[in-house]
Amino acid sequence: MKFATASIIAVVSASQALAFAPIVTGPKSSSALNAALGKVTGQSALDPAVIARYDALPFPDDQILAEYVWMDAIGNTRSKTRTLPAAKADSVDTLPKWNFDGSSTDQAPGDDSEVILRPQRIFRDPFRARSDGPANILVMCDTVTPAGEPLPTNSRAYAQEFFEGKDDEVVWFGLEQEFTLFNLDEKTPLGWPVGGMPSRAQGPYYCSVGPENNFGRAITESLYKACLYAGINISGVNGEVMPGQQEYQVGPCVGIDAGDQLMMSRYILQRVCEDFQVYCTLHPKPIVEGDWNGAGMHTNVSTKSMREEGGLEVIKQAIYKLGEKHAEHIKIYGEGNELRLTGKFETASMDEFSYGIANRGASVRIGRDTLDDGFGYFEDRRPSSNADPYLVTGKIMSTIMGPEAPEIKPLNKQS
Ligand code: ADP
Ligand code: MN
Ligand code: MN
Ligand code: MN
Repeated sequence: MKFATASIIAVVSASQALAFAPIVTGPKSSSALNAALGKVTGQSALDPAVIARYDALPFPDDQILAEYVWMDAIGNTRSKTRTLPAAKADSVDTLPKWNFDGSSTDQAPGDDSEVILRPQRIFRDPFRARSDGPANILVMCDTVTPAGEPLPTNSRAYAQEFFEGKDDEVVWFGLEQEFTLFNLDEKTPLGWPVGGMPSRAQGPYYCSVGPENNFGRAITESLYKACLYAGINISGVNGEVMPGQQEYQVGPCVGIDAGDQLMMSRYILQRVCEDFQVYCTLHPKPIVEGDWNGAGMHTNVSTKSMREEGGLEVIKQAIYKLGEKHAEHIKIYGEGNELRLTGKFETASMDEFSYGIANRGASVRIGRDTLDDGFGYFEDRRPSSNADPYLVTGKIMSTIMGPEAPEIKPLNKQS
């Protein structure tokens, strides 16, 4: 008994020391300290030793926790949790539908507020990892009315129409998700002086190392591990051109699964940033003053025939079709994209379609490897970082499966 009491005291005081040590420079009373902790960028307000105590409790053998995730009215993710029998968690067909109050998310009127969540894709939950039994899960859902009609914001349902019956094409998407990290003031990017700008212009930050160049690597690394654990096909990460900006890539994924995987990766990104107490935005041009790159969601695309001998010709045909429908694509490639697609900072102008070999100033780029091999994939550089991945992949699919379009001359360095 005596030992137990002593160890509890030891735990409490050690945990206080842990939680308070990094920022004891500020206020002295513990309530003021707690208030400060919640506002200090990079410092979790939660006491790790206390959390560890509850984390160590086992989960029930025959039950799991399912986090149902969906896209809200403005393309952000929302989620809530339920306990389920483990036996129901293996397939979306056995997972129950669920619902939420759509009037609280701008997805339904108050007098008929119920929105139905339909499980579409299961991932492992990296935030509730367990080794003592069946995995807890994250469930990507889409949203329908009680009558089963997709909500207007259910872009997944609309995109799916373009993939239906096209399994033979085996279309792959690789999505490059750029994001920008800010202090909790939501004004100061990580690594920037408050109210000012970095003293060095863009150049040293892309794929950078070093404390003066790379800001937020711990977040990207945590996201990487969490995505791998979840079962997301994350293919890489790198530091980006603007200080405080980072990127990860998801793919190649087949068809509608690219949207599901990317949306779940965005959910994971926000959860990681919550843990780090760092604000993350997907805005395509978070800093408009000065000469700083915006943020995109480059979309790499190939069909089966593009990946085979003679594929380069199929790729070119697809690009001509994209050129024909440029304006329609721009319309759904993300809000605020006009601030980013200026023709500067490795972008093409929004008003004009172009493509080129290894040209990062074109709307669509064919990589040098693809040119040399004669087959491969192309990169649509137009979608912004906040673009809806279901809309982007669905629209590309519909266009490249559409009628033939006249040839467009490439925009290459030499020309
Ligand atoms: P970038 O050179 O434009 O920065 P990245 O390496 O960041 O390119 O991203 C390339 C993306 O393209 C990755 O997500 C990768 O999985 C994807 N990808 C590779 N091959 C294909 C392919 N054949 N079809 C579609 N996507 C592909
Ligand atoms: Mn990239
Ligand atoms: Mn990039
Ligand atoms: Mn790219």
